[in-house]
Amino acid sequence: MTPQGPPILTLKALRKEFGAFTAVDGIDLEIADREFFTIVGPSGSGKTTLVRMLAGMEFPTSGDILLRGERINDVPANKRPTCMVFQSLALFPHRTVGENIEFSLKIRGVEPAKRKTRAIELLRQLRLPESYYTKSVQKCSGGERQRVALARALAFDPEILFFDEPLSAIDYKLRKTLEKELKDIHRETGKTFVYITHSLEEAMVMSDRIGVMRSGKLLQVGTPNDIYTSPQTKFVSEFMGDVNVIPVQSTGNGSLLAPSLRAKFATPVGAPQVQSGHLVIRPEFMRFLATPDDAPNSLTGQLYNEYALGSRIQYQVRVGDHVFIIEKLRQQAYGGKLDDQVLIGWDTQHSILVRDE
Ligand code: ATP
Repeated sequence: MTPQGPPILTLKALRKEFGAFTAVDGIDLEIADREFFTIVGPSGSGKTTLVRMLAGMEFPTSGDILLRGERINDVPANKRPTCMVFQSLALFPHRTVGENIEFSLKIRGVEPAKRKTRAIELLRQLRLPESYYTKSVQKCSGGERQRVALARALAFDPEILFFDEPLSAIDYKLRKTLEKELKDIHRETGKTFVYITHSLEEAMVMSDRIGVMRSGKLLQVGTPNDIYTSPQTKFVSEFMGDVNVIPVQSTGNGSLLAPSLRAKFATPVGAPQVQSGHLVIRPEFMRFLATPDDAPNSLTGQLYNEYALGSRIQYQVRVGDHVFIIEKLRQQAYGGKLDDQVLIGWDTQHSILVRDE
């Protein structure tokens, strides 16, 4: 669900240079009130620099940041109704859970009784027992510590919370649980969450919308479904994980030539007008065919290997120098054996033509 309504944050041609290097290169974006917006991109793409500017920890070289329509470019971090949530490692290790949560209230001069009431309220909200108020942070598990870090950020009731890869140091299983919990907490608190990660998989689970960043630019912004089903560039489609990507050229008469496969494929309806690009087909949309007529696009290859992925099986089929990936549910597994000559194909509406970028 994408929250509607006026934006809480508006970025206009936002740019940050470090000497001759441009870390953030002209970003235009609106983030809606109460939205869970995730910025995803590889290491060095400028995610942290962007979020640090939004949090007031770094100042833009040019462009504007508006909070509910007011320009806040020069407002320092402690004067903004926003808060950065770091990895749980940033907690004070020798203090109690309560002292950690109350930290921002204490430096704002809130009296002890009020601080405690707020801390207990947050423990409840984050599903931690009240008795944890006096527990040492060092005696908490990784997941509990992450919740304490979040409670500390929520303590002074910020409007926007920024998260810089808070789950990156946590093991896979716990991370998967915390991703869902964070999404629940987002719902329960009604705050705007701006989250950065290098994992599109993590972004998909939690976000209302995702912005994919590369080299300081936002390449595409959309819902998880938009990004998954309609990537606009090769980079965005490949960032999603295993996909089949075929370099193609337009023939000008409705078909696409794939020189490396010496084959022609049908152009998907609504495809962008490009001279050359890439045809993307997700593994779950590739099929094994009985005859070439069973799909509008077909190729002959050799079944090279298969991998069990829990509920699905992934097959690798070699066609010349290309390796195609096909995924089937376990109950629809391919019946043949390795090294079989196989016919594979796809329906044109399941392919996407993307730009080279
Ligand atoms: P990561 O996922 O590795 O944290 P990122 O996408 O968050 O990467 P940034 O930390 O924003 O990327 O860095 C973007 C680029 O800007 C990098 O090449 C980095 O070296 C450069 N950079 C960041 N801060 C500074 C600085 N203070 N001075 C010079 N260069 C910097």
